[in-house]
Amino acid sequence: MKVLVINAGSSSIKYQLYDMPRAEVLAKGFVERIGEPTSRLSHTCAGNSTTLEEAVPSHETAMELILKVLVKPGEGAVADLSEIGAVGHRVVHGGEEFTGSVKIDDRVLDSIERFAELAPLHNPHNLVGIRAAMRKLPGTAQVACFDTAFHTSIPKVAHMYALPFELYERHRVRRYGFHGTSHRYVARRAAAMIGRDKHDLNAITCHLGNGCSVAAVRKGRSVDTSMGFTPLEGLVMGTRAGDFDPAILFYLADKGYDLATLNGLCNKKSGLLGISGVSNDMRTLQKRAEEGNDRAALAIEIFCYRVRKYVGAYSAVLDGVDAVVFTGGIGENSSLVRELVCRDMTHLGIALDPKANAEAGGRESAVTVPDSRVQVLVIPTNEEQAIARDAFELVGGNGEPGTV
Ligand code: AMP
Repeated sequence: MKVLVINAGSSSIKYQLYDMPRAEVLAKGFVERIGEPTSRLSHTCAGNSTTLEEAVPSHETAMELILKVLVKPGEGAVADLSEIGAVGHRVVHGGEEFTGSVKIDDRVLDSIERFAELAPLHNPHNLVGIRAAMRKLPGTAQVACFDTAFHTSIPKVAHMYALPFELYERHRVRRYGFHGTSHRYVARRAAAMIGRDKHDLNAITCHLGNGCSVAAVRKGRSVDTSMGFTPLEGLVMGTRAGDFDPAILFYLADKGYDLATLNGLCNKKSGLLGISGVSNDMRTLQKRAEEGNDRAALAIEIFCYRVRKYVGAYSAVLDGVDAVVFTGGIGENSSLVRELVCRDMTHLGIALDPKANAEAGGRESAVTVPDSRVQVLVIPTNEEQAIARDAFELVGGNGEPGTV
């Protein structure tokens, strides 16, 4: 069976077509700049890449274009759209309701719409993508896979803020966490790599990309995570501040900063970009730091220090840690970041192997010395594959939903 995975954003749709259960990618691509005069589709199938530039006024048209290229003789991956047995959609917010992936029906659509209040920058676009796919593939099962679902196992003690309780009762203000599909995927892969049952793994998973979060995983379930009510909390990110004293906002408001400016400062102008004044991109910062740029170096240090603090905190939360996992563009590729996070951590049972760490990247590998009590693993994340598996299993494929 073929499963199409869709990730719809504000002006783009990314897609991958999987052959299941082999989980082989048959084709992938994206449509970008939807709604602008110069939209573009980039498509790769069997090693051949094509690009198409034409006006794509809506997500609906983008979906039409994607389906057309998937069946295009010579460039497509299927002879007929009826070969697609399910479509899996990435949805950012599933509130407290969705503890796993689900087949989409009217009730699910209503809920995703309701949770748009909690994720106004994401859920509405995810929903547009789902509706377009439903219209274009009316007989095909549609599945929603939520970024928040893996974290619904976080207990009250970790998901409640010490704010007046009625804010939770009236407005559902609590920690939700994000990147759940990635944390779940790498935790399952970590269990496989160290020969543990997935329900018997204690791990600290660090997703370090442009957005960053850490999760504490006890017996295969998320018990805490650094992102909170929104993705702003926790680690230093490309342009987000992560943890800071919220009273700074009151102080700045008193000085005349309005709400929109403060929002922009915290989400778009802080983090690596804010500290360095150079870039939000770790590769650029590493280069500039090597060339002697002090603020680029400081941004990297602060970034790693914050990850280190969370690894320490989650070591205290878990009763024993089997593995610390690095994933995401930075986690997978920056040996420097892994070294700065993990060095001098033998008291926590972490003994990095500098050579293995320097050589890791782009593939699953262990980067600790053989007798390190806690293993440090580099695992490329694959959220699309996890979504494809969930969709496949929910329409009757082998296995249980969420096995990877
Ligand atoms: P993501 O959001 O997962 O795509 O990750 C993007 C981040 O990964 C950016 O900050 C990139 O600079 C960073 N990144 C990608 N490759 C490397 C690399 N080889 N070394 C350091 N950072 C990298």
